[in-house]
Amino acid sequence: GGPDLSKDGPEDTIAPAASGDRPLVVVENVNKHFGELHVLKDINLTVDPGEVVVVIGPSGGGKSTLCRSINRLEPIDSGTIRVDGKELPKEGKELARLRADVGMVFQAFNLFAHKSILENVTLGPVKVRRQGKQESEKHAMELLERVGIADQAHKYPAQLSGGQQQRAAIARSLAMRPKVMLFDEPTSALDPEMVNEVLDVMTGLAREGMTMIVVTHEMGFARRAAQKVVFMADGQIVEENTPDEFFTNARTERAKDFLSKIL
Ligand code: ADP
Ligand code: MG
Repeated sequence: GGPDLSKDGPEDTIAPAASGDRPLVVVENVNKHFGELHVLKDINLTVDPGEVVVVIGPSGGGKSTLCRSINRLEPIDSGTIRVDGKELPKEGKELARLRADVGMVFQAFNLFAHKSILENVTLGPVKVRRQGKQESEKHAMELLERVGIADQAHKYPAQLSGGQQQRAAIARSLAMRPKVMLFDEPTSALDPEMVNEVLDVMTGLAREGMTMIVVTHEMGFARRAAQKVVFMADGQIVEENTPDEFFTNARTERAKDFLSKIL
């Protein structure tokens, strides 16, 4: 058993323990088409509790579709995806509840423009987790503190910089106490000077044991935070490797070719 998440206090942790030692995310033989286009080709991937997996690869390779499938934002054609032992249902209340176990941060920050930062962070817990308003606000302020923007809580998204908005989006995801966090190119829409403030928050989460799947080409982050790099191209996982090996000594020609273009 891990920490008791039912109470809020100094022991409250960002990374809920999975129920057991089994992998937290299991993707098995997953296939998906968009019309004629085979975008996920027999994908297999397991992510252990506390593990950070970086997914890297050329544009159009299926990285976003994989993330969206794990969260059931995209239906899959065949195969199974389980989070903490449970397959996500196709629809309904149960889907909303289980989907909340998977936090997702996108390239475009996707905050509600007409709601304050604080409201953005409390909305999910109140609506989906049925938490009280006061408790949700207390937790939200702790999370905004953590990502370094507590002083922006009463502003609207457009009043924040891109880096601050993305940190708000991370806080909003964390407010649902997800078991795993998916990040889909979270820094690629940011001005260069704001990339690190977001990567630093993510590195902190990784250090605290959050299970994370991160689509990014930020090598520094991969080397600092990830245990595993998954190289995806043309809908397939072409190579799985440690970050050090992958960036210095990739096994496949496909990966070497890709790296020679981004490095
Ligand atoms: P990546 O994130 O690696 O760039 P994507 O998962 O976004 O790749 O896209 C994989 C392939 O699926 C691309 O060829 C893309 O054009 C196509 N695709 C993505 N979303 C859709 C969609 N909603 N409808 C049709 N094709 C799509
Ligand atoms: Mg993408």
